Amino acid sequence: MTNPIKRGWHFLQIPGPSNTPERIRRAMNKPTLDHRGPEFGQLTKSILRRLQQVFRTNGPVVIYPSSGTGAWEAAMMNLFNPGDTLLAFETGHFANVWKKVAERLNLNVDWVRGDWRSGVDAQQVLDKLNADKAKHIKGVMVVHNETSNGVTSNVKAVREALQQAGHAALLLVDVVSSLCTMDFRQDDWGVDVAICASQKGLMLPPGLGFNALSQRAVEEAQKIWTVQSYWRWDRILEMNKTGYFPYTPASSLFYGLDEALDMLLEEGMEQVIARHHRLAEVCRRAALHWGLENQCLNTNEYSDSTTALRLPDGFDSNELRRIILDNYDMSLGKGLGQLNGRVFRIGHLGDFNELMLMATLAGVEMGLTKMGVPFQKGGVQSAMDLLSST
Ligand SMILES: *Cc1c(COP(=O)(O)O)cnc(C)c1O
Repeated sequence: MTNPIKRGWHFLQIPGPSNTPERIRRAMNKPTLDHRGPEFGQLTKSILRRLQQVFRTNGPVVIYPSSGTGAWEAAMMNLFNPGDTLLAFETGHFANVWKKVAERLNLNVDWVRGDWRSGVDAQQVLDKLNADKAKHIKGVMVVHNETSNGVTSNVKAVREALQQAGHAALLLVDVVSSLCTMDFRQDDWGVDVAICASQKGLMLPPGLGFNALSQRAVEEAQKIWTVQSYWRWDRILEMNKTGYFPYTPASSLFYGLDEALDMLLEEGMEQVIARHHRLAEVCRRAALHWGLENQCLNTNEYSDSTTALRLPDGFDSNELRRIILDNYDMSLGKGLGQLNGRVFRIGHLGDFNELMLMATLAGVEMGLTKMGVPFQKGGVQSAMDLLSST
């Protein structure tokens, strides 16, 4: 029996919500402010300006008091009418949930089947768009980083397919777990709506949703007749010009967002992304040594925020997670949807460094041993070798 009283840090190594650093927690520990007062207007304007740097866009960024799911719904409510067709790809659990949200809004989803182990195939996008002679497809939805299986999709290649097909569909991209963990360039890649949330690469607690918009998205939204109110971009964009909102925003989280943007921009987006890449490579090195199969099949689609590893047949990944939580006070991500019990996920994103990674890998290696999973010991050593040689 382990003693129920825990000391030291709990290791929250799920792929989001990620760890919120002390600096951000302190920044939020302030009295609630007047969301119609002068201080709040200044805070909002400064946040919106720096968010554009993070999304790499000159377009406006809308902030909602919502989770990522709300930000999906907002994007679709603003751009599509019931009966419109969207092209989407079964890259994994989150693509699947996004599809269901679309269907509940009475949108048609042209669903390209997938194996939950690989990203969107740009050639398939091109074929689909070329075949759509009547131009029924109004939007293309891509999950940039499938947090459920550690598989990324090449967004730039999807935009190129749209161009090559000469198709006017809007490009919607879920960047919930890729923003601030992997390279993302809204304007360069021609993304019309980037959908995000606060609790992954932005290192904040859950509670804020984002829609970063292209000029075209703003214009297209004006032509929609769907009944909507709370999610409407136009009212928010109008009020945001002076730094305010048509409703009470999640103002205490804004203090945290202000601090998070300071932290990201003082480190530099390039360095933030390079740090994630390096630590992800080290994690993958350990997994390779252990001989555990990566759920992501293609090495050029590996995620730098999440690694999903498969256990050999007959071994339940939830049992491994339970053993690691009970013995080492570390939470790992569970397998979602059809991967429940099959994979466990290591989150290596946000406020994260070398020794946090080493502790995480040590916890996994000890858990594998305790559970009696057949594997090659020494993954932690090979991770240390890679870390200390680069
Ligand atoms: C976490 C996540 C979401 C879900 O967001 P909620 O905040 O739970 O609504 C959506 N998409 C991806 C890719 C995610 O990682």
